[in-house]
Amino acid sequence: MKYKATEQILKIIGDKSRIRNFGVIAHVDHGKTTMSDSLLASSGIISPSVAGQALALDSMKLEQDRQMTIVQANVTLLYEKDDKEYVINMIDTPGHIDFTGRVTRSLRAIDGAVVVSDSVEGIMTQTETVTRQALEERVRPVLYINKIDRLIKELRLPPDKMQEWLLEIITNFNRLIDIYAEPEYKEKWKVSIQDGSVSFGSAKDKWGFNADVMKKKGISFKDIYEAYSEGGDVKKLAERAPLYDAVLGMVVKHHPAPDVAQKYRIPKIWKGDLDSDIGKALLNCDDNGPAVMMIVNMTVDPAAGPVAIGRLFSGRLKDGDRIHLIDSKREGRIQSVNFFMGNQREMVGELAAGNIPALLGLEHARAGQTLSSVSTVNTFEGIQYVSEPVVQIA
Ligand code: GDP
Repeated sequence: MKYKATEQILKIIGDKSRIRNFGVIAHVDHGKTTMSDSLLASSGIISPSVAGQALALDSMKLEQDRQMTIVQANVTLLYEKDDKEYVINMIDTPGHIDFTGRVTRSLRAIDGAVVVSDSVEGIMTQTETVTRQALEERVRPVLYINKIDRLIKELRLPPDKMQEWLLEIITNFNRLIDIYAEPEYKEKWKVSIQDGSVSFGSAKDKWGFNADVMKKKGISFKDIYEAYSEGGDVKKLAERAPLYDAVLGMVVKHHPAPDVAQKYRIPKIWKGDLDSDIGKALLNCDDNGPAVMMIVNMTVDPAAGPVAIGRLFSGRLKDGDRIHLIDSKREGRIQSVNFFMGNQREMVGELAAGNIPALLGLEHARAGQTLSSVSTVNTFEGIQYVSEPVVQIA
């Protein structure tokens, strides 16, 4: 793994075709956290503030430290595919329990979702709910079937039966796309093994593959089976076919870059006039338009105060900018513009459309609000809150 520093990352994101904004969604216990942690461990980005320490540590120790890190509101990963580097923002989409606006709000910041499904349990109620919500926001879902080890160790399925079993899950998933996707995306967004929009793996054991990995590395279901049989070596499998390669490869190939996605997502998620200057800037993810950002997450840094994290849909934001918080009709001044390097925040001074800035200094910012350099702009609210039924306790 090559590590990159801030300037190199900023250079890559100067080209929007190399940015992806995605989230992981899943039914409870299907492995979202384990998978996300595994991606973070492969991040390839190291912030200057840890770079010094990193040099002092040997790589094993660094690896261990990273694996213990809990995935935060946003994590930025670096991934190289076909000799091109991509900067991938993984934005936390609260999955289970919290079925209120929080899910939909974070879906607004992403253009693609990796749906994690336990291979034994298959498509469950929450898989259906979150996939439906993603489709309603025109977020493209791809499928990662996790816990393949259980098919071998618990269900004792031989390779051919394993494939039949998995095809059934894929069929059930595509049924959701058939039911919930808008007509123009029903066929386009169906997933398939052949085009690599479905991956399989074990997040616990850190291996994963899809059709592209199979072709490139000559891996088959038989290899997986053998790795879990007597004399097999699961660690070796994880070295040959690391999970991050399958998942991030799928993200880069099947999720759109922000400028591509905004052309069809803005008409769905923003209710203003698309022919206005702001409308056009949003549709085109235009760096030179007015700054318009939706805050999807607020965290508090004990030293730096509130941190507003969200998706910048148009324009640029830089240190010292005065902005309007549209929903609450307040104003504020950005103390500093930060970008995530792995899971560390770094001051970068300025960021452009399509990115996920973390802004310091905005006391009055709240999650769900729209922030802009201009005072008159339609907000990104109007989110359909999917409320849980109120359970009456007699
Ligand atoms: P989340 O609720 O979706 O975030 O799920 P977690 O990542 O917390 O995982 C739930 C449980 O499944 C934990 O006990 C994990 O250790 C376990 N788990 C995760 N991935 C795998 C896997 O690939 N195989 C098996 N057998 N267990 C796994």
